[in-house]
Amino acid sequence: MKKKFETLNENRQAILATNFYNFETLKAILLAAKERNDDIILQLTQSSINYLGLENAVSMAKSGLKYYGVNGYLHLDHGGSIELVESCLKAGFDSVMFDGSELPLEQNIELTRKVVKMAALYDVNVEAELGYIAKLGQSKEKVAYTSAEDAKRFVDATGVNTLAVAIGTAHGFYKEEPKLEFNRLSEIKEAVKIPLVLHGGSGVPVEDVKEAIRRGICKVNVATELKNAFMLTLKQILNDTEEIDLRKVFPPATDAVKALVVGKLEMVTV
Ligand SMILES: [Zn+2]
Repeated sequence: MKKKFETLNENRQAILATNFYNFETLKAILLAAKERNDDIILQLTQSSINYLGLENAVSMAKSGLKYYGVNGYLHLDHGGSIELVESCLKAGFDSVMFDGSELPLEQNIELTRKVVKMAALYDVNVEAELGYIAKLGQSKEKVAYTSAEDAKRFVDATGVNTLAVAIGTAHGFYKEEPKLEFNRLSEIKEAVKIPLVLHGGSGVPVEDVKEAIRRGICKVNVATELKNAFMLTLKQILNDTEEIDLRKVFPPATDAVKALVVGKLEMVTV
């Protein structure tokens, strides 16, 4: 994963990172990546790990990649504690995120530094977050964008491999089109040089995502839209049919997610 990021960073390219929630969403992502012959990052949050079971989720992801012949990586998304990060490292993740973005800067630095040390034993990539990227249900009014100065200090002090930056995106859907601060992004990139991560990729205009990649974003996260595509399609089918065979009901929802992911893979190709 670290090598992959080095190459992406040198070439100013990005990889798509999508969350999976169950077998169907995992299958959809893998079919999309296979069709495009693209690499992919499969992400799990704490809630998805709780839902699927840690070891089970890891085996699903790894055997899925093998089964569909896709080159991919498993990443912990928004890890909220050192304990969770440690169990993911032990379970075989390729990359982990420690999200201390809501902590005071000093504490974020201290904990992220611990995570970096721990992950080094497994040669695993570490992503951290600096600034405020509104999470689902959090206010999008509050603004705490990442500054180049803080980013430089944070990266130097922690040795983190990749950094999620707040440049105008938020998690979930947007009421108004988000405006990305491209100059800020370029300043951060100039200051830290490492691969940067764009969270809240659902609903950012395609051209803006491409511009962000040209300016140093190497990983684009998409989650909410994927869940949404699955559930909306499923609801529609259940409204329209009396069918109770889940093997007939799920495939159109899986197809909808696959089509969405194919589009997102095109989006991150510059
Ligand atoms: Zn995120």
